[in-house]
Amino acid sequence: MRIGIPKETAPGERRVALTPDAAGRLVKAGHAVVVQAGAGAEAGFPDEAYTAAGASLGDGWGADVVCKVQKPGTGEVAKLREGGALVGVLQAATSGDLVQLRVTAFSLELLPRITRAQPMDVLSSQATVAGYKAVLLAADTAPRFFPMLVTAAGTLPPARVLVLGAGVAGLQAIATSRRLGAVVSAFDVRAAVKEQVESLGAKFLAMEERVEGEGAGGYAKELSADQHQRELAFLARSVKDSDVVITTAAIPGKRAPILVTRAAVEGMRPGAVIVDLAAESGGNCELTQAGTQTMHHGVAILGPVNLPATLPQHASQMYARNVASFLGHVAKDGALQLDFTDEITKGTCVTHGGKVLLA
Ligand code: NAD
Repeated sequence: MRIGIPKETAPGERRVALTPDAAGRLVKAGHAVVVQAGAGAEAGFPDEAYTAAGASLGDGWGADVVCKVQKPGTGEVAKLREGGALVGVLQAATSGDLVQLRVTAFSLELLPRITRAQPMDVLSSQATVAGYKAVLLAADTAPRFFPMLVTAAGTLPPARVLVLGAGVAGLQAIATSRRLGAVVSAFDVRAAVKEQVESLGAKFLAMEERVEGEGAGGYAKELSADQHQRELAFLARSVKDSDVVITTAAIPGKRAPILVTRAAVEGMRPGAVIVDLAAESGGNCELTQAGTQTMHHGVAILGPVNLPATLPQHASQMYARNVASFLGHVAKDGALQLDFTDEITKGTCVTHGGKVLLA
């Protein structure tokens, strides 16, 4: 099977779908890997590293299976070979143009969150990067230290970090904040995460009257209007006392829930920082603007987009492992062999044989 790796062209995208190491493994497994010159350069993987691993340089688009990080641009879609396959975070649910393709397309963000799919789980691997980087952004923006310092010039208390949403990104943000010495608390509507939060040395904030946020597939579900109001009132107190708030709350297929209102921001101390990882899906803070930093009442509000692209080497390394593992699942004996009774294949395949399969 010929596997093609084009250079990513989306603005700001520095990741690559396969690293030399992952390409080498696929070559050893009997595939041919064709990499567009410069595809890995921004992630720290020069062309020579790919050729040393057994890949060749060329036009990645004409391959049997084209692996991408982001969905192809409009002009790029036509470069895909009719009858070929495309693998990537295609955002198929919102990319009508793509799902009309006459290729077999796999949208990796649709992978079921089941144990068997964990090695392919791009959402988890990239959320890990985002959670880590969110803390670094917060620490860089905050006008104070994260750790407690006892010095001859006085004792400085540790930063108080609040993490809202304790999924993959949130748990990584907790771990990273703790490593920097902050005192961390966290909240999530899924009670199941309490133990995970506490095992990372953070305090889990529990509402007196619990809200029911556990949905299907391990994800959260939208709260009722009444529950949401109670959550907002409950969180406002903790937000007020925090030096840093990192928000990661998401509900699949929906706008991100508002967890930090304008009034809550206005209750924070000047110098406080909010990093809103849900900026791309509407934001958890009412005042977030995606892709930019704003100031409101002395509070910095960051709405970063595509944070994984800012740590392209390790983000690509994990992404490539996910992709290689996915290819190992759908390809047998040098060709794609699709079993549509399989949850992973069925869940991710959005077009096949000229048909749109997206549910
Ligand atoms: P996500 O990005 O969809 O959401 C982030 C977090 O926001 C979630 O923990 C969610 O509960 C929380 N949230 C939603 N609404 C909220 C609200 N109103 N207030 C506070 N928090 C709110 O989640 P994710 O990080 O992709 O993880 C979702 C789940 O999938 C987790 O339980 C994770 O452990 C699980 N998971 C399972 C596997 C697997 O078994 N293969 C792999 C990865 C993740």
